[in-house]
Amino acid sequence: MSTGEPIQSFEKLRISASMLKAMKELGFTKPTPIQSESFAPILSGKDIVGIAQTGTGKTLAYSLPILDALPYSEQMNPRVLILVPTRELVLQVVDQLEEYSKFKSVRILGLYGGVNIKQQIEPITQGADVVVATPGRLYDLAVSRILQLKNIKQLVIDEVDVMLDLGFRFQLNNIFDLLPPRRQNIMFSATMTTEIDLIIDEIFIKPTRIAIGFSGEPLKNIEQVSYAVPNFYTKVNLLAHLLSDKEEFKKVIVFVGTKKLADKIFDTLEGELGNSISVVHSNKSQNFRIKAIEDFDSEKNRIMISTDVMARGLDLEHMSHVVNFDTPEFPENYIHRIGRTGRAGRMGKSIIFFTNKEEDYKIEIELLMNMEIPELDFPEEVAVSSQLIPEERKLKVAKSPHGNSAKNQKTTAYHKKADKNTKENLGSKWKREGSKKYKKPQRKGDKIQNRNSKKKR
Ligand code: AMP
Repeated sequence: MSTGEPIQSFEKLRISASMLKAMKELGFTKPTPIQSESFAPILSGKDIVGIAQTGTGKTLAYSLPILDALPYSEQMNPRVLILVPTRELVLQVVDQLEEYSKFKSVRILGLYGGVNIKQQIEPITQGADVVVATPGRLYDLAVSRILQLKNIKQLVIDEVDVMLDLGFRFQLNNIFDLLPPRRQNIMFSATMTTEIDLIIDEIFIKPTRIAIGFSGEPLKNIEQVSYAVPNFYTKVNLLAHLLSDKEEFKKVIVFVGTKKLADKIFDTLEGELGNSISVVHSNKSQNFRIKAIEDFDSEKNRIMISTDVMARGLDLEHMSHVVNFDTPEFPENYIHRIGRTGRAGRMGKSIIFFTNKEEDYKIEIELLMNMEIPELDFPEEVAVSSQLIPEERKLKVAKSPHGNSAKNQKTTAYHKKADKNTKENLGSKWKREGSKKYKKPQRKGDKIQNRNSKKKR
């Protein structure tokens, strides 16, 4: 999160006159928050992990310090490698880098699959300082020794969440093996996943983590509530129950961590909700995704189930609710999810389901937001399922929320977590000061539940 005051001008970053001139020409008056926060750490040569969405200016955030510090050279082999997930992004990043380095002599080369590899030999032999590439084609060119990676000093992996979602893990590993071990690693991603965490553990050395602090403002427009729910199928029952209120749940995005579970929810609810529900994730064809998103945006469909990665580029209008079917392990993902509602000054609503196992993640989210998410009682009329999905079978059987046991489990988990948080003892600090500082949350969301309960009676 944000550490200090944002830097208010490019001059204060002490970039060279040529870069400054490019910024002026582009009409960029001051660095964006991610730009001012990443500039010094990237320049220092440390490994960097940045959490930032598209549109925050992250391309300039990593390219400004890199381009600014890059000395003139006539050598053939590139010194900077930027990996991006798609051909479109290669073209976009190359365009941006060319604009940013307009008044400096830097050779930028874009390489991507889908075109004849032979056509790329000629531009490579011309020499390049910075290569922007998709992982598959880059690996093919490197392994066939058309492109030499031995002089790479800086590696940028951009939109790594999308890259992994598209199945590029294998290619990434192969590329890492071909790169010189002494190099700076920089990664940008909008969402965090355990798979990304594994890569960080494997190849990054003591990375500096930069996440642009979200301002508290957008959160004010979002009414947040939570339900303790014992397992997947009970979550499906609760979701179906909530969604049956068409008046209240007008336009809903349901977030789920994995494609497999997104499909499972869809399959379970499709019969009940028919053509008002759709599912999008990266295993669906491009045409299918476009149609699903269009139908949802035009309100032909009321409900869309989506994975974190798929939904992040969407700019959807007037969402009434965000349902977090699972509790994200990385708290920033929750902030991105709920930011899909409550836009443009409108009120939005967010609901989060958490199991006993996910309770710790919820506490992490609350600590990040410095507020507690009010918990609603589990509706009496919703059936509690004892059926478990394979992932849950390994865990101990959860008890019925009707018996108030989930709530007790929650309290225990909260205290356990608070005690466990020894770093700054944030947990207990939050308990002591946070609860004093922040008023007891209003249970506005009770309305939803009461209305549903009344209707059913
Ligand atoms: P990105 O997040 O890298 O995709 O950038 C989003 C857009 O913001 C791009 O079109 C950039 O040209 C623009 N941009 C980047 N940095 C700045 C800045 N400091 N001031 C104004 N616009 C910017």
